[in-house]
Amino acid sequence: DPRVRDIKTKIRVIPNFPKPGIMFQDITTLLLDPKAFKDTIDLFVERYKNRNISVVASIEARGFIFGPPIALAIGAKFVPLRKPRKLPGEVISEEYVLEYGKDCLEMHVGAVETGERALVVDDLVATGGTLSAAMNLLERAGAEVVECACVIELPDLKGRERLKGKPLFVLVESH
Ligand code: IMP
Repeated sequence: DPRVRDIKTKIRVIPNFPKPGIMFQDITTLLLDPKAFKDTIDLFVERYKNRNISVVASIEARGFIFGPPIALAIGAKFVPLRKPRKLPGEVISEEYVLEYGKDCLEMHVGAVETGERALVVDDLVATGGTLSAAMNLLERAGAEVVECACVIELPDLKGRERLKGKPLFVLVESH
């Protein structure tokens, strides 16, 4: 798809951010191009519009840029998955391991009902720890995770292998 080639050119790579040795994939430059941003959303919408998805869940902060327009276009509800102590209501939490230390995602109790069909959206998958915590939250609430979708995959980090066999759809790979 020629749209994917154009999207890839709009993602800026910033070396040594946020720390030495990291090649940071910066999607803010993609957002500056209305055509490429719309194509990004459209590619996901085309894939998910007839899949009976009732909930799109995404991860703060960059997942919140892509999840809501997809949810609106496919007629699904949107559920924010947040870092600890951000959500005001009763939550369930899921810890996950990072390269150094731990992090945690939370979801409001009652946001998702048993039997719902969920799509998890984020900007980028690296080790897969974040997506896997997100899937655990949805599954603990009784939802079925249909697929995870990201704009960018860093395939060298083998995040796919941490997703318990769940399908992962990405637009661009970066090595
Ligand atoms: P993972 O849990 O190791 O798969 O890391 C994925 C999470 O880290 C996502 O929520 C991303 O937003 C964030 N992340 C990691 N590397 C990058 C990057 O290069 N650009 C943007 N986000 C990144």
